[in-house]
Amino acid sequence: MTGGFGFSGKRDWLARGLLWSGVPFLLSKLPARDSLLVLNYHRIGNPADDLFDPGVFSATAEEFDNQVTYLKSHVSLITLDEALAFIDGRKIEKTGRCRLLITFDDGYLDNYEIAFSILRSQGVQGVFFLATSMVGSCKIPWWDQIAYLVKTAQRRRFTLRYPADLEVDVDEKGLEESLREVLKLYKRPENSDPARFIQELAEAAKGKELPGTLRRFLNWDEAREMTRGGMAIGSHTHSHHVLSQLDPGRQYEELSKSRGIFKEELGIEADVLAYPVGGKTSFTGETQKLAREAGYRAAFSFYGGTNLQGKANPYDVKRIGIGGQSWSRFRVQTDVCRFTGRYWP
Ligand SMILES: [Zn+2]
Repeated sequence: MTGGFGFSGKRDWLARGLLWSGVPFLLSKLPARDSLLVLNYHRIGNPADDLFDPGVFSATAEEFDNQVTYLKSHVSLITLDEALAFIDGRKIEKTGRCRLLITFDDGYLDNYEIAFSILRSQGVQGVFFLATSMVGSCKIPWWDQIAYLVKTAQRRRFTLRYPADLEVDVDEKGLEESLREVLKLYKRPENSDPARFIQELAEAAKGKELPGTLRRFLNWDEAREMTRGGMAIGSHTHSHHVLSQLDPGRQYEELSKSRGIFKEELGIEADVLAYPVGGKTSFTGETQKLAREAGYRAAFSFYGGTNLQGKANPYDVKRIGIGGQSWSRFRVQTDVCRFTGRYWP
């Protein structure tokens, strides 16, 4: 569920040009800005190896390992406690001025199997935001259900009628583009009945039956092992509902219920929250107030941007998504942030 491939491809080329031009070298002559950059990952692995949504794969294991290695020698990788101190405006004992925090959303099993082992072996902390109803489950979130149904479709051409008409032609447009169009249709505000959408897609595409017994999310034993291994855990609410679509009472329930479960299962106070989806319209001023009332010290969004010292809103901490960008682009993004405190998309 990332942006268009065209945009991404152009940015990757531009990044290569910038690296050749020596712009990062010139930037390195500037004093670094006091900033906090928060990276957000979802899945680690190879999207070609499974039938679910390729859009939530952030990097392969090898790419992630290389990224962490690069970051370790170029920025100050910090812990959640240090990030909270920065957000509160307190001094933290780090020399570098571009502080970087690594976060993961959703708690897919590969976060435990791959990301955790890489982070632990590199001595770096990651913050893993888990939706408590999904922990240890075989649940298939809507984006993965849609991808599975499109990828296993027995019909190459089919028409969807809800919530608007869409002609899907896998042979003409290719699998990736077709999938992107179906996901876009699902996300339209008129889609008030997600179950109907999935059912109609299954019938139209004649996709295979969804696997019901494959565990897809890390469980509580694994989460406990991760906290013992130096990782931090935060809340991604209980059910992963978009909070702005719920009334204040249900929003509060989503926020406080998951905090209660973390306390019971892991013995921790969940200090931080990541808003599901995390775009500007996925939470409101009221949501921010409710997050504070529920006991969270900070909440993370997901629409880009960095956080400058003294200017960070604790209930809208900006994060940027890592999603299949080239190595050149990753390096330019890190360097630009380091020396300007801003993010280059
Ligand atoms: Zn999520």
